[in-house]
Amino acid sequence: GAKSYSFMLRTKNPCGKVPNRLYLVMDDLADEFGIGTLRLTTRQTFQLHGVLKKDMKTVMSTIIRNMGSTLGACGDLNRNVLAPPAPLARKDYLVAQETAENIAALLTPQSGFYYDVWVDGERFMSAEPPEVVKARNDNSHGTNFPDSPEPIYGTQFLPRKFKIAVTVPTDNSVDILTNDIGVVVVSDDNGEPQGFNIYVGGGMGRTHRLESTFPRLAEPLGYVPKEEILYAIKAIVVTQRENGRRDDRKYSRMKYLISSWGIEKFRNVVEQYYGKKFEPFRELPEWEFKSFLGWHEQGDGSLFCGLHIDNGRIKGTMKKTLREVIEKYNLNVRITANQNLILCGIRHAWRRPITTMLAQGSLLQPRFVDPLNITAMACPALPMCPLAITEAERGILDILKRVRAVFEKVGLKYKESIVIRATGCPNGCARPYMAELGLVGDGPNSYQIIFAVTQRKYDFAQIWLGGTPNQSALAKCFLNKVKLQELEKVIEPLFYHWRRSRNSKESFGEFTNRLGFEKLQEWVEKWEGV
Ligand code: SF4
Repeated sequence: GAKSYSFMLRTKNPCGKVPNRLYLVMDDLADEFGIGTLRLTTRQTFQLHGVLKKDMKTVMSTIIRNMGSTLGACGDLNRNVLAPPAPLARKDYLVAQETAENIAALLTPQSGFYYDVWVDGERFMSAEPPEVVKARNDNSHGTNFPDSPEPIYGTQFLPRKFKIAVTVPTDNSVDILTNDIGVVVVSDDNGEPQGFNIYVGGGMGRTHRLESTFPRLAEPLGYVPKEEILYAIKAIVVTQRENGRRDDRKYSRMKYLISSWGIEKFRNVVEQYYGKKFEPFRELPEWEFKSFLGWHEQGDGSLFCGLHIDNGRIKGTMKKTLREVIEKYNLNVRITANQNLILCGIRHAWRRPITTMLAQGSLLQPRFVDPLNITAMACPALPMCPLAITEAERGILDILKRVRAVFEKVGLKYKESIVIRATGCPNGCARPYMAELGLVGDGPNSYQIIFAVTQRKYDFAQIWLGGTPNQSALAKCFLNKVKLQELEKVIEPLFYHWRRSRNSKESFGEFTNRLGFEKLQEWVEKWEGV
């Protein structure tokens, strides 16, 4: 069908920043060249689905001319750099966002090729800060390919995609530990940013039933003073460029290099490219999940409003309303790493009319959204993603309703919630291995492949348990090949016992970790109903 000739196109938006004009253009492009919906991704970008090959050039050049970029959104290079999207007038947030933008610029491919092909040779790159250009061209420790148009990537680029996030202490809205590099702003007692803690070696992707592939949490590498961050990032990227495995893509993410070398050896090699030693990692407070939903003061006299979008899928009335609001008030927006949208720079006087418009467009205030939906995520999976083996986005809203029904049945209150994430394959784009209940597509049965094009009731999932509400612990695989249709058989006993024997305020993830899988499995096997 038409599917095989259409493409997915992804933008690049460091910190999820989307200027007003770019939002309006993306909204138009979705109608004109896509399937009429816009999708917000877990890496703070837009995805347009269903773009025909013949329209690619038009779509890409339209995005580039309107202050967007698609450069480096795919392929074996640095992907969109995450940072907390909240438009707060706070020094640490501003430094995190500026650093994310500088890192994105540092690691953007330099070749004119892309522009020649898509924009007829015109260069639409925004001016880069001089410190970014300086860091990119610095070859004092032999890190560069001096004669290449790509001084950092060379001709071979990286062994695999590369992911970086920047944040501030406590704010884990970016799932910091799932990235190849995680950067955290460290401030002094007066709130003045002084430097950065650096984590390395996180990553989600794995392969089913291949134990040598695994999701991994990033671990501390060290601390660098503020002005050194780009040099440290470059040294890490070059270490992976030179040493990451290129013989087998299953093992080519940097997490496998660090896990085979150990952090000490990895640090030593990075320090050679960096030209000095890292300082000791500074102590950080506990992580917290921040949704930024609802109305907040920015701290500069304006307000921002975070809107929950199920699965990040903007469509129908909601799409129309969003466009009207964003256009009428000339708002810039930001995409969160949880697939939600933030309207920025709202004057107090606009709050009431905007609230009215949003309500009419079924954009509900967070208090009217089920808490389960607020933290849930699903990847596009079938029918959008060529790697998918099951559904995820298409099925998750129904699964959330079923989980809520089980909550009610076992006596858990409405305010209770857990983090649920689903993906259509073990690649893990919606970061299911950090969830308290992670569902990872584990194959449809053969009957389904042939007949069930629209109704895939018999998808199988692998169930992962043990992530925590603040995304600081890795889940483990609890069961293989669970028929999604029979999910209740697994979750009902688990939620029942959680309600009965949890410690006060103990999250479901903490509870499952404390009890251990043996106990949980026994409950599931012996379950006879509430
Ligand atoms: Fe596709 Fe798998 Fe990523 Fe889902 S997790 S979007 S199915 S690659």
